[in-house]
Amino acid sequence: MIKINNLHKSFGDNQVLKGISEQINKGEVVSVIGPSGSGKSTFLRCINLLEQPTAGNILIDDQSITAADACVDKLRQKVGMVFQNFNLFPHKTVKQNITLAPVKLGVMNQQEADEEADKLLTQVGLKDKADAYPSSLSGGQKQRVAIARALAMKPDLMLFDEPTSALDPEMVGDVLDVMKSLAQDGMTMVIVTHEMGFARDVSDRVIFMDGGYIVEQGDPEALFSQPKEARTQEFLSKVL
Ligand code: ADP
Ligand code: MG
Repeated sequence: MIKINNLHKSFGDNQVLKGISEQINKGEVVSVIGPSGSGKSTFLRCINLLEQPTAGNILIDDQSITAADACVDKLRQKVGMVFQNFNLFPHKTVKQNITLAPVKLGVMNQQEADEEADKLLTQVGLKDKADAYPSSLSGGQKQRVAIARALAMKPDLMLFDEPTSALDPEMVGDVLDVMKSLAQDGMTMVIVTHEMGFARDVSDRVIFMDGGYIVEQGDPEALFSQPKEARTQEFLSKVL
């Protein structure tokens, strides 16, 4: 579904991604782990062109998203993203947050979007919060709204950038449960996370990044119990 060839990204002199080649299949759940500053967020942000790669190319469903004539709006419809800090619109209700983009981009009319929002809010366990404003919600509730909002565009692929890192510990489980059920429903997902237990249990594959490279990747069980590379071993010894 996604083919990434020799992806490079620099910010000025700072080379952040130094040649990443990777393929993600439809329905696959891939966790990306690694130390802070290793380029995990930049990698994710290149996949939906929140960052423009410096070199290399990315194909989604065999269409280049990095070509000069690629349509960014079409791409963003296919790719949902969930951020660490939720990024909800504070002056819109929960339901308006969810329906805004699909209506604006003509994916649905308002009535269809409202019905879809009700369904999604039920799915994330927040049916009774449709008319609430984000400021009245807990972090875990905000993040579940953010997931519902991303799903409203009916994406083929969901990207998660540390979705539970800003949450109080007691909120983490509810968000992970929503993600787990999405994974079980067959959504293709790339998840940057520090939740090693989740990465191990839910992912089909785990990628370990360090210093702008993919150092090692593989089956979660194998990567966590028998990492091959010294850098992976060192990182896991600190976080497990
Ligand atoms: P991670 O998510 O693994 O912690 P990031 O991808 O956020 O790593 O960052 C990797 C490096 O890229 C860091 O050195 C960071 O300062 C730099 N970086 C990320 N985004 C930008 C940006 N928009 N402008 C300049 N430097 C950036
Ligand atoms: Mg990051």
